[in-house]
Amino acid sequence: MDRAGVVFRVWGCRGSASTSHADTHRYGGETTCFEIISGQGERLMVDCGSGLRQFGLSLEYSGTPQLKRPQINVLLTHHHLDHIMGLGLFAPLLNESAEVVFWSEDAEASRASIDRLFSPPIWPVKLTQNKLIAFRSLAAHDNAISGFMVRPFQLRHPGGAVGYEIRIDNRKIVIATDHETGDAVLDAGVHAASTEADLLVFDAPYSEEEYANRLGWGHSPRSAALAIATKAKARRLLLTHHDPGATDSALDHIASQLGAAPLETMLARDGLLIRL
Ligand SMILES: [Zn+2]
Ligand SMILES: [Zn+2]
Repeated sequence: MDRAGVVFRVWGCRGSASTSHADTHRYGGETTCFEIISGQGERLMVDCGSGLRQFGLSLEYSGTPQLKRPQINVLLTHHHLDHIMGLGLFAPLLNESAEVVFWSEDAEASRASIDRLFSPPIWPVKLTQNKLIAFRSLAAHDNAISGFMVRPFQLRHPGGAVGYEIRIDNRKIVIATDHETGDAVLDAGVHAASTEADLLVFDAPYSEEEYANRLGWGHSPRSAALAIATKAKARRLLLTHHDPGATDSALDHIASQLGAAPLETMLARDGLLIRL
């Protein structure tokens, strides 16, 4: 068992919409997409925001000869646009160089959502006609996907969203985006999943003042994310889903304040690699 080989990579750190502007280049402007690679090289993707396009290109041009068409497993947290918008330009699907399996709570709901967006006249091709796509529903308990063990849990978000407790190589990574704290039952579920996580990924784009004007939007203030992570004794907290209007200097300012947090806390940026 390789205890040092798990890699977590951020392909998209923004929420709601992508951005490309001189003052957002350092943190990056792609919407939410993550990759986890085990010590044995097994891969699991989480969400298909605009960052998925760059991930697809990295596979196409990696120079690795593919003896066999690989299978890419993708966990979907929910179907909001910022979490699926990268699918239309995902090279492994367009070039038929990989099979892609989408895992979610409800496979048919995922298929219907992707159909709705990626079909004419909104998109020139109907993605789900691609024979290389499969949709599978997750069980409520542990799911073995490639070498990963995945357990879904409910989040508080308009229309619903699912978080994931992911175990691989004796490491635990928890993805909790998009979640608005404040529901005792759902917060307890997030806390339970996050207990002693090696990495907790949480969307908390707001200060408490900003949050006061965004109640019900489905995202949390940073103070709430820190409270859950601290109580759960998570080892690292990665804050993600930055507002597209958050500039590099604004995010630097937030990062400098996080230095006083009781656990290692970082802001996501496109291309960030975390070794666990
Ligand atoms: Zn989102
Ligand atoms: Zn959402």
